[in-house]
Amino acid sequence: MNAASTQLRFDRNILLFGEEGQRRLMDTHVLLHGTNTLSQKIALSLISLGIGRLSLIGPEHLQGYDPSDFLLYLNPSRPAEGMKADGLRSTLEQIALRGKQQVDSYGIPPDPGFLSFLSPDIIIDATNALESKDALSAYAMSHGTHLISASATSTDGLAQLCSSGQSPVDRASLERLIGKDYGIFTGSITAGLVSNLVRRIAIPFANEQKTLPPVLTQSYALSRIAGITTPIDAPDALPWPSSRPYAGVKALVIGTGGIGNFLALDLALLGITHVTLVDPDVIEESNLNRQPLLYGRVGKPKATVIGERMGLIYPGVSARPLVDFFSYKHDDRGRFQVLPEPLASEHYDLIFSCVDNETSRLAINDYAVQTRTVLVQGRLGTGSGLHTYVPGRNRCIDCQENLRASLENQKATGLDVDKVLGPGCQLESNPNIVVPNIIVAGLMTEEGLRALYRPASFARQKDALFYEGVGSFPFSFRGGVDPYYQAHPCIDVS
Ligand SMILES: [Zn+2]
Repeated sequence: MNAASTQLRFDRNILLFGEEGQRRLMDTHVLLHGTNTLSQKIALSLISLGIGRLSLIGPEHLQGYDPSDFLLYLNPSRPAEGMKADGLRSTLEQIALRGKQQVDSYGIPPDPGFLSFLSPDIIIDATNALESKDALSAYAMSHGTHLISASATSTDGLAQLCSSGQSPVDRASLERLIGKDYGIFTGSITAGLVSNLVRRIAIPFANEQKTLPPVLTQSYALSRIAGITTPIDAPDALPWPSSRPYAGVKALVIGTGGIGNFLALDLALLGITHVTLVDPDVIEESNLNRQPLLYGRVGKPKATVIGERMGLIYPGVSARPLVDFFSYKHDDRGRFQVLPEPLASEHYDLIFSCVDNETSRLAINDYAVQTRTVLVQGRLGTGSGLHTYVPGRNRCIDCQENLRASLENQKATGLDVDKVLGPGCQLESNPNIVVPNIIVAGLMTEEGLRALYRPASFARQKDALFYEGVGSFPFSFRGGVDPYYQAHPCIDVS
């Protein structure tokens, strides 16, 4: 492999960070302790980001089927028995850029002597175990190594960077997470926060401090976002009797690119079995920098490949790929017509809008309003984050962010910031790399479940949730309705 393959795979990174930035990422050796679902999301995100070497370490053995071990099942030719770290490696090697990115695995606990032999640049502890945090903290402090502690429960996520071993992990902030079970969307959000810390060590942006503080903490908490303290992705918190609480939910995902990849992953992990995927695009090599579920299938339709991979993770999933553009407009008799045609005879519980242009966003919003369906719309670039429309609870997304006016503005200026690699994708605080994709997808999963199961928690002024890659709590709510839209059909808010 030569420089050309790196250029092709990581062209977005090179545009954003330059050749030198990509080289620094490739020179970074990360050791990841833990083989749980959070570790797997972190590993997927880091390989997709473009780090050069990932060492997986953990003494767990391969056991019976558990869909939360999604990374194992993505590889049909995985080893049937042995160490879990080796099984994870066998999938990651297929996702990585061959000959450029190295993955190695060690089915043992992280012994200090062995860590010293491996001598990684960054150690990530992704367990919810205090003993592991303390032991790796002690190692990092005696060797001056960066340590990132990552933990997630079903309502909280925490990523803490102890820079150059200057400080131990902050035990107090970890207390609410230690020993708890992992969550699905919190795992994605936390993996994104961790990847952003790794990116920040390798390639600090101009607007970030070059010298990292001794401890840098970023967290996510559902209680802070929506006032919810009980899990919304745990079966016992839901009115569903079965152990697969979402078996009856029908979801429509429009767009299977950067956000759609990670969203589809979370839907499969939740056991949402009825999923329709709409996307006209075929896979290109440069997509793999942000869309890791598409590995090994360049030239094939994205929707088809995503559907197949959801089925590998959770065999109960029946994903229907529709390889076509979505549109919703009046036909020549003035009636609304939805395309692809199979959508006309379906009704969904949840629509996820993961598209990259204003025309499609508006069409999807109109479709949700007319069919009175919950809509969660993700967006990257200027205002990375999401908007949620819950029929009868709040106003539609066009009313929330004036999609129609922004489309008119694009037509007038001829500039679509989503399509051109302009300021939107290159915002230093929120560049369009894997980091915000996995975070926004995790938030979209959470908001979709919240809309279905906690609709009363949607307040009029809290429609929109944003992620900005800086600050200790990089999430914020904003809301509000443009007065121009008083007469919109979504007005029947109770
Ligand atoms: Zn509206």
